[in-house]
This record gives sequence, C-alpha cells and structure tokens, in this order.
Amino acid sequence: MKIDILTLFPNMFSSLNESILGRAQEKNLLEINVVNIRDFSKDKHKKCDDAPFGGGAGMVMMAQPVCDAFDSLDITPDTCRIYVSPKGKRLDQALVKELAQKKHLVILCGHYEGVDQRALDLNIDMEVSIGDYVLTGGEIPAMVIVDSVSRFVPQVLGSAHSAEDESFSDNLLEYPQYTRPQNFRGLEVPQILLSGNHGKIDEWRHNQKIEITKQKRPDLLKKD
Ligand code: SAM
Repeated sequence: MKIDILTLFPNMFSSLNESILGRAQEKNLLEINVVNIRDFSKDKHKKCDDAPFGGGAGMVMMAQPVCDAFDSLDITPDTCRIYVSPKGKRLDQALVKELAQKKHLVILCGHYEGVDQRALDLNIDMEVSIGDYVLTGGEIPAMVIVDSVSRFVPQVLGSAHSAEDESFSDNLLEYPQYTRPQNFRGLEVPQILLSGNHGKIDEWRHNQKIEITKQKRPDLLKKD
C-alpha cells in the first residue's frame, strides 16, 4: 500500500520509521511518502496560511499550496483522498478495514483553523475524524490512520499475528493476556492457560471476550 501524507509539519512523522511500521517500509509492504505543503508555496516567505474571509480567530491554510501539493501526486481511480477533520466520519475498526482495501491513500493534515474549503472541494473524497475532540493539527490523526490501517496490510504484522483476532473483531474486546512469570506479586496466571488443552483455552478466551465486552462496552454487542 502507498500512503502520501500532505502536511506543514513533516518532521512529526519521523516516528513512522520505528518498530512495526518501520520494518514494513523496509520490506516494501508499505510506502509512506511525506510531502511538505510549504514546498509548494509561491510566497517568498513560504507562507501557507492567511486570515479568514469574514473575520474570526486564527488562520486558514491557503488553497493554492494545498492544491499544488495534490497536483504533484500520482492520483489514480484507486486513490482515496482523505482530509482528517473533526467534522469527518468517525474512525472505527470497520472504517480502518475499508481503508486497508485501498491501494493508495492520500491524507491531508489541516492546521490552525483548518483548510480553505475550495481546496477540500477540489481534492477530497472522504473526511475522517479520530474522535469528538479538537486537536491542534491533523498530523496525529493521520498517524492514527496510517498505524491502524497498516495492521491490516498483508504481512505487516507477520504471519504469526493476525489483526483479525483482536479487540473489535466480531464486535468483541480481546481476552486478557499473560506472560511469564506464572506468579507475579501473588497474582497467578489463570490455570486453564497452563493446561495445554487448546480447545479449552479457546473456549475460555471466547467466554472472557463476551464477559469483558458486556462489562466495558455493552454497546458493541448491539452492533450488527
Ligand atoms: N476549526 C476547526 C473546527 O472547529 O472544526 C478545527 C481546526 S483544528 C484546530 C486543526 C486541524 O486539526 C484540522 O484542520 C484537522 O485537520 C485536525 N484535527 C483536529 N481535530 C481532529 C479530529 N478530532 N480528527 C481529525 N482531525 C482533527
């Protein structure tokens, strides 16, 4: 999968080169390209924002550098162009899986009071929000999308681990996990996990998933 990220703050994305996503890029399972919108400014001071028409607080990202940054990309019918915004569709595991089917994502990060609406009208297929709160910029939401979507790209998690077996698959939260030592500060690992009986372990884990979901997120059990 290829992901282009358009931002005024490219340095924020250095963390995507670490850990699982870093290895996925080294193996060419994932190609992440961070584009600095400022490189497309025609202003001699590389200014990319201006005061809002109609007045009001803050600054607005100008249409020209944003549109020119989009024009520099290889957009095809397989591309999905996303603007991260509090006004967007709320990201959940179903939307993550949907986005993971795309061959090419472009993610536009807003900053300040947002982006000139005309740049959005001309370029955006979908607006995505990561929750009902307002952040200073779209860089962290973009990283949330890249991280969550990448986990569903084949081989990114490695063959031994499946994103399908985790919280939110089948609308259930995950069972509790334990590792060594068997007794930690007087707390024992559930005996069933030491039994070697994989049928019983699967049954226990499934029952735990239902119990935990009932306790913590009963709303998930009502979803189709
Ligand atoms: N004035 C905007 C509003 O009231 O909807 C908020 C602008 S916010 C300070 C700056 C940028 O951060 C937005 O353009 C968007 O790209 C990003 N952003 C903030 N909160 C977000 C959220 N919950 N989900 C996705 N992106 C968000």
